[in-house]
Amino acid sequence: CGIVGYVGPDRSDRALTVVMEGLGRLEYRGYDSAGVALVTGERVEGQKRAGKLSNLREALEEAPLPDTATAIGHTRWATHGGPTDANAHPHRGGTAGKLALVHNGIIENFHALKQQLESDGVTFSSETDTEVVAHLVDAAFARTGDLTEAMREVVNTLEGAFTLLAVHADQPHLIVGARRNSPLVVGLGEGENFLGSDVAAFIGYTRHALELGQDQIVTITPEGYSVIAFDGTPSDGKAYEVTWDAAA
Ligand code: GLU
Repeated sequence: CGIVGYVGPDRSDRALTVVMEGLGRLEYRGYDSAGVALVTGERVEGQKRAGKLSNLREALEEAPLPDTATAIGHTRWATHGGPTDANAHPHRGGTAGKLALVHNGIIENFHALKQQLESDGVTFSSETDTEVVAHLVDAAFARTGDLTEAMREVVNTLEGAFTLLAVHADQPHLIVGARRNSPLVVGLGEGENFLGSDVAAFIGYTRHALELGQDQIVTITPEGYSVIAFDGTPSDGKAYEVTWDAAA
């Protein structure tokens, strides 16, 4: 039900802190589970829990993750699969532990996609519609070596409503987001950038925002962003300043 992403300078070491704060600001939307994933060198690591954000905070206190420069976070409102730890996002794709993905919305055609993946030998670790997307993007990355292109290929096979964010350990300094029938906003910082399903996700850090249009993909790095349409043509979002007081 809420999504946050952060990418900062190589040694910023605050991605997890920023993402946890953003999830806190999105709590008002309601949710049943929460989770985070960070790029930590060769892999992505994460933690996810059913229940309140305080459950996730406790899990992170018991098993701390090293804070890094790139992280994504999610609060879930379950549509496919009950509110369990396993069904909470982020979801991993593939078996190398390099890709993590979060999703708000519903993938209408997930059943057919899942059957195809299962017949190809993919093992699923959740009951969500989302996990198919994680496996598909991981496989597309293996072919293309580029997370933006991998996301672009996959979103063109999906039906339904989605805001998606993905990170991959082989491209540690970027986050790729995509949206169809579901909101996604970029927060523009100085040497760091943000993604949110809502400006509340990053309002503690910047008021420069960029609203994405329908069927667009955005790639953020610490220095900037680029937007393309699902067909690959260069595009852009709509820049604006957040003037209302979201800190209240
Ligand atoms: N359909 C996905 C799930 O059930 C995402 C739900 C959401 O928007 O939080 O896991």
